[in-house]
Amino acid sequence: MLDQKQESKLANSNNNLSSELLASLPEEIRRHLYFTLGHFSDKIDSHYYYQALANAIRDRVTTHWRTTRKRFAESTNRKVHYFSLEFLLGRSLNNAIQNLGLDEESRRALHAYGLKLEDIEEAEPDAGLGNGGLGRLAACFLDSCANLELPVVGYGIRYEFGMFHQTIKDGRQVEGPDHWLRDGNPWEIERPEDTRTIKFYGHTRRGLDENGKSFTKWVGTHDLLAVPYDMPIPGYKNETVNTLRLWKAAATDVFNLEEFNSGNYPDAVVQKNNAEQISMVLYPNDASENGKELRLKQQYFLVSSSLQDVLAKWVEQHGEDFTKFGELNCFQLNDTHPASAVPELMRLLMDEHGLSWDEAWKITSNCMAYTNHTLLPEALERWSVGLFSRLLPRLLEIIFEINERFLADVAKQYPGDMELRRRVSLVEEGDHPHIRMAYLSIVGSFSVNGVAALHTELLKSGLFSDFYAMWPKKFNNKTNGVTQRRWLSHCNPELRDLLYETIGTEWESNLEQMSKLLPLADDAAFQAKWAAVKLKNKKRLADYVLSNTGVTFDPNAMFDVQVKRIHEYKRQLLNVLHVVHLYDRIRRGDTSGMVPRCVLIGGKAAPGYHVAKLIVKLINNVASVVNSDPKTKDMLKLVFFPNYRVSSMEIICPGTELSEQISTAGKEASGTGNMKFMMNGALTIGTLDGANIEIREQAGEDNFFLFGMDAAGVVEAKKSYNPDAIIAGDDDIRRVMELIEGGHFNEAEPGIFELLTKGLRNPQDQWLTIGDFRSYIDAQVEAEAAYADQKKWNRMSIINSATSGWFSSDRTIQQYADEIWNAKPLRDGKA
Ligand SMILES: *Cc1c(COP(=O)(O)O)cnc(C)c1O
Repeated sequence: MLDQKQESKLANSNNNLSSELLASLPEEIRRHLYFTLGHFSDKIDSHYYYQALANAIRDRVTTHWRTTRKRFAESTNRKVHYFSLEFLLGRSLNNAIQNLGLDEESRRALHAYGLKLEDIEEAEPDAGLGNGGLGRLAACFLDSCANLELPVVGYGIRYEFGMFHQTIKDGRQVEGPDHWLRDGNPWEIERPEDTRTIKFYGHTRRGLDENGKSFTKWVGTHDLLAVPYDMPIPGYKNETVNTLRLWKAAATDVFNLEEFNSGNYPDAVVQKNNAEQISMVLYPNDASENGKELRLKQQYFLVSSSLQDVLAKWVEQHGEDFTKFGELNCFQLNDTHPASAVPELMRLLMDEHGLSWDEAWKITSNCMAYTNHTLLPEALERWSVGLFSRLLPRLLEIIFEINERFLADVAKQYPGDMELRRRVSLVEEGDHPHIRMAYLSIVGSFSVNGVAALHTELLKSGLFSDFYAMWPKKFNNKTNGVTQRRWLSHCNPELRDLLYETIGTEWESNLEQMSKLLPLADDAAFQAKWAAVKLKNKKRLADYVLSNTGVTFDPNAMFDVQVKRIHEYKRQLLNVLHVVHLYDRIRRGDTSGMVPRCVLIGGKAAPGYHVAKLIVKLINNVASVVNSDPKTKDMLKLVFFPNYRVSSMEIICPGTELSEQISTAGKEASGTGNMKFMMNGALTIGTLDGANIEIREQAGEDNFFLFGMDAAGVVEAKKSYNPDAIIAGDDDIRRVMELIEGGHFNEAEPGIFELLTKGLRNPQDQWLTIGDFRSYIDAQVEAEAAYADQKKWNRMSIINSATSGWFSSDRTIQQYADEIWNAKPLRDGKA
């Protein structure tokens, strides 16, 4: 331990450590190559240059990080803790360079070594700690919080293996491990001094303490350690650097010692591995629960370590006085994955800090806020009471008590309504009772939000209607957004420069400025520049497609793209049916009005989701037939783009002209891919689902290709859905089905697509794919007509970008800060 004098001396010398002590970037790169990485040879792999540059840039982040942390620790503003099992960050190097304004300097530094920044950036693996939209949203939110200088810390898990790597073999998805940390991660700093202990299993014991006060203890537990790794989240040119804290699981020494002393050294080591398993792998399920014990362990591990972290810092600052804890802290739960935060905060406040139930409940229910991400029943988390009682016995007791008290309140408010009490109970009764995590989140939170206007309305009128009737003020909407720093500025430098030259730079921190483009939508000279940018981005995408798939895209064709997780509700199948329809028209010589088109589909299927994997196979099989048929050569191409991830979206979205957002209405909560495309000037062909509705409102209905049933229409259509009749009554659709059912795309593997074609013909088909097909074909014809008139298309494209201001995550986060968190920027008025 340091004495006070030593401590203040150290603090002073730390204060003098600033970026001014750092040498020039080229020298810092050399220093890191030599001293940090120990690299002495003349031939240096680009990987080492990446490491050296990343270290040099990180050094430049450090001073601001330190000041922000200090400001955060000392602040009496409300602090926000964003709890998420997923953060889909992608790459960090360019993000830091851009946000610190070091682009020119980095380029010059690398030039001295004969290197290009873009090539060095390629050496960085994506941080793929998420499945799709939900995880990427968390990453965009952190960026916007730092941009707005809000006191927000992200809390997550440092998965050793992120989202699996996807390759395609014989048209089928093959999963490989994503060992993203293998070569080290310069963007994290281990903070072992903040290690927390996490309990599992055991049982509870009640008693009276020396003052005669009753207590409950959770004893006989298996303990393990949570070790934090911090990643810097730099704000945009504002000297703010926020923190993402990711936990890694480790064995406690005690845990090992017991086994060790009993002479069982190998078992002790195995135990250590068991502990580390908790943070070993990200579950690759998007919008579906999987019910595995290890997953519940991950959830509790994140929640307990993070809450202990926040409480420990509170106690440092305020001692054991928690009166203002709820007022000065807020926990935003990204879906129900971290819902055990509700009973865990209760447990910590009561069992560890001696608060009464009422005191603890007042605090907890005033600082938890829950974001719902889906209405799909298969995604609603339910944990078996049996599993819960084994793994987290104390938490289960607390959940039962929350439920008892809640149901007693319901009985008071709605006397005699037993049916209501059964419906809203946190426990789903039956042979195998389950805990309903969404209900637990609603009851334990002061705010419940959906992620797009339609989604929130459907929550209120459907899934959560009983709760909405009880607590209408709890419910609110926060339409998702994406950060324009990554999804426009960074990924589309050609457009960025055109925007700089045309409307200045303010849009980078205020996307509403994009509306300054509106007066130029019809300006021929500006349209020409706009089109030239798009063409460059299409060429870049075509090169990328060629090197990843071997398929040639002609940059003069229409680039039609659907990239997102593969899921039945997202209806990649509808897209394939349309490609088959175009192929059929070409083969029949019916090409009037058709424009040459290159269709790209990409996305990962959950490894256990059989139908989704079969859809991948169908896309690949159709692609191989279409691309090798000499008749279609100049008119139609289809590729399945493998291993879709953040860094591939950065090349795909600027080169896209037509954005496919074709989910069954009422199923896509918001979507965020739709927003990235819009910003980059793509036109949307889409249903009235999620944020598509708001995109169409912003862009205007003339600048959006709408098709299909709306959410109410879907409910209505299901009552008498008859796909066979639709197929029989529409020659285009009939021919498409005949081609697929006749085995045209699987001559060597007869029958393999039957599951899909039977699903399409099933009157119970939830996704109504055949029901929307005719309308989709017609909207595609409309899109082609617009494309054939390039002046019109460019106008529509400009208008889409110009009206994308609403979809910045800066706007979303400002609304969270104002309407949920009651959070103020750390430096109000600025220093
Ligand atoms: C934006 C994004 C998503 C979300 O896409 P949706 O079309 O909204 O489902 C998924 N994955 C990655 C890599 C993304 O960048």
